[in-house]
Amino acid sequence: MLEIDFIPAFKDNYIWLLRRGDRAAVVDPGDAAPVMARLQADGLRLEAILVTHHHADHQGGVAALAEYWPATVFGPADESIIGCSRPLSGGERIDVLGQEFEVLAVPGHTAGHIAYRMPGAVFCGDTLFGAGCGRLFEGTPGQMAESLARLSALPDDTLIYCAHEYTAANLDFAAAVEPGNAAIRRRIAQVAEARQAGRSTVPSTLAEEKATNPFLRCSEPAVAAAARQRDPAAKDPVSVFAAIRAWKNVF
Ligand code: ZN
Ligand code: FE
Repeated sequence: MLEIDFIPAFKDNYIWLLRRGDRAAVVDPGDAAPVMARLQADGLRLEAILVTHHHADHQGGVAALAEYWPATVFGPADESIIGCSRPLSGGERIDVLGQEFEVLAVPGHTAGHIAYRMPGAVFCGDTLFGAGCGRLFEGTPGQMAESLARLSALPDDTLIYCAHEYTAANLDFAAAVEPGNAAIRRRIAQVAEARQAGRSTVPSTLAEEKATNPFLRCSEPAVAAAARQRDPAAKDPVSVFAAIRAWKNVF
């Protein structure tokens, strides 16, 4: 069994640590120092580095880690990842610590963003967050909506390993979009309790996201109605998504 844990980095990043015995892999090491400290403390050997997209808070530690460890560096073929030894495109399958992962193309936050899926879990970087989604720095609303639909089509019990602890702030926005959604109110209480106790709110399940994440709920009449208050032209799910995403940017 692959064990999954996180290494906190910067203000709110999660670097995911995968381990099997003394073998380890990390996802999106934006900073090498906390990863090195953890590998040494736990007596782990780093075999693989998985990068979802080119932003510095996701790949800033790759060069230093790959210099110290003979690790395979997986990353999106369409982006510039320093030291990438195995460029990937959507649909490819790779082996990490004896576990098969499927690569999903999820452009939108960046143009070449990829996610890594194994049975029961997906490492989705800055595409899907707890109750939110990434900003559209390089992609179009249509691309991001399609990427979120791709993630949304995974089994409901899939664990969503995103790269930031943004859930509480995202839920405040979700409640503004859907004031009548009881699942959002319940999740706000759960997340507040978890954060007060110092616990992570990641991973969530896809089922939780489908019930509370406005960006996965653009076909819901309540979300479409809220979008139309911002943009009267918002009708189809993509234009609803675009209106909600633009609103979140200024929320
Ligand atoms: Zn990013
Ligand atoms: Fe990020």
